[in-house]
Amino acid sequence: MTTLLDLPSGHYIGGEWTGDRATLTVENPATGAILARVADADAEIGRSALAAAVAAQEHWAQTSPRARADLLMNVFDLLHERAGQFAALITAEMGKPFAEARGEVAYGAEFFRWFAEESVRSGGAYRVAPSGTRRIVTMKQPVGPVLAITPWNFPLAMGARKIAPALAAGCTVVVKPAPQTPLTTLALMALLDEAGVPAGVVNCVTTSDAAGVCGPLIADPGLRKLTFTGSTAVGRTLLAQASQRVLRTSMELGGNAPFVVLASADLDKAVAGAVEAKMRNSGEACTAANRFLVHYSLADEFADRLTAQLSALRVGDGMAPGTQVGPLIDANAVASVEKLVDEAVQRGARVRTGGHRRPGPGYFFEPTVLTDVPADARILHSEIFGPVAPIRSFTTTAAALAEANATTAGLIGYVYGENLGETLTFAENLHTGMVGVNAGIVSDPAAPFGGVKESGLGREGGREGLDEYLETKYLGLAL
Ligand code: NAP
Repeated sequence: MTTLLDLPSGHYIGGEWTGDRATLTVENPATGAILARVADADAEIGRSALAAAVAAQEHWAQTSPRARADLLMNVFDLLHERAGQFAALITAEMGKPFAEARGEVAYGAEFFRWFAEESVRSGGAYRVAPSGTRRIVTMKQPVGPVLAITPWNFPLAMGARKIAPALAAGCTVVVKPAPQTPLTTLALMALLDEAGVPAGVVNCVTTSDAAGVCGPLIADPGLRKLTFTGSTAVGRTLLAQASQRVLRTSMELGGNAPFVVLASADLDKAVAGAVEAKMRNSGEACTAANRFLVHYSLADEFADRLTAQLSALRVGDGMAPGTQVGPLIDANAVASVEKLVDEAVQRGARVRTGGHRRPGPGYFFEPTVLTDVPADARILHSEIFGPVAPIRSFTTTAAALAEANATTAGLIGYVYGENLGETLTFAENLHTGMVGVNAGIVSDPAAPFGGVKESGLGREGGREGLDEYLETKYLGLAL
């Protein structure tokens, strides 16, 4: 039996655990039971965390890239050593099935390895100026102290995707995890400490007052970068605050992914990809397929097969053997999904399977397939964040593209087709930062993750992920 890690409950600031007012409760969404209580920071504690990051910045920036890389590799190794315990913690506070939580630990750990490898290659150039009388030298320098604000849906990976590149670049960090899932981040802090990351380089505050703690930090001249993953609404507010200081920002915001099945698609592949793209994390993923657009010649069979697959999934506590779909994060999440489904049904959508919440304890919603969904139903224009697949059919590829792009979100789209030219052209014309081409999952620490339009700014992962934490400095050399 995998046991939970022995967890600290305070704030991690300057290499010390502080704060004894453990009043912020953390629930297990599968049971509603209280799992733990953690410290609840106020603005002053937030400021002390930033002060620690600012104090550690210069020394960390001067630490050799190889030394930083070695520390990040220690983190990677330790995460693999403790994978079972981290996965159990993720399942306990967030709800996803244990096997998926193991996958998140492997994914999260990989950011530390990838950025360990990238940290020794931050780049620079020496060029002859067009005049011939000067030399253009460029070098990369760390941006400086970073505030990282993370959501609850991937408690380890969302933090890892920010902390690993920031450290690789030579930046220090204050991380503020979501109040529903602070335990995994606290466990990560203890692991970073054990891996040898110096005091003050990474700091963590947990709080029920995100705006009250983060607002003053964003206004503080010591902070040089804000990186946020969460909803577009909150991202917009944070961008407005950051604009007052012309702060560097990275924004990973909400999606509304179309999943398009072209006439040439292989239905076996498309249905398997649909299950992955929809059901990963119970649909609580920014990358979740939110709207299925299927060529009319395949639409009925696609709906039948997806219905058969989703209705066969076993819903339950993520720690129970065989569970394939866990609970949603809380009661509000269930209410929000239920409302979207009810409204669609009132507007004429047909429920092929599911359609309802499950009785408690815990916050469960049945895997659901809807057909005959009217084009203007709210469910097609909102991020569902639950296990619901609304299906619509189309007659021409041009109409499918227009419908797929008719959204202010632009994080990811999926397209399935065996006609290479048509499928790639469709992928190129989707207004999104990422496209799964005959693939239901694209996340990879070695690839640039991010969106266009209101889905965000910047990229996480890949070579681009390091640049988010670096400034280019130009030295003009006169001969
Ligand atoms: P959220 O409500 O926007 O919250 C995200 C984080 O921001 C939480 O830690 C939250 O803390 C904090 N926050 C909220 N208001 C704040 C403020 N005024 N100042 C500072 N911090 C503030 O999002 P969520 O419900 O946790 O996550 C779901 C959303 O994240 C979805 O829209 C999803 O698409 C998006 N997401 C995007 C990506 C991506 O890579 N593009 C990845 C994962 C998730 P409190 O809860 O205490 O307010």
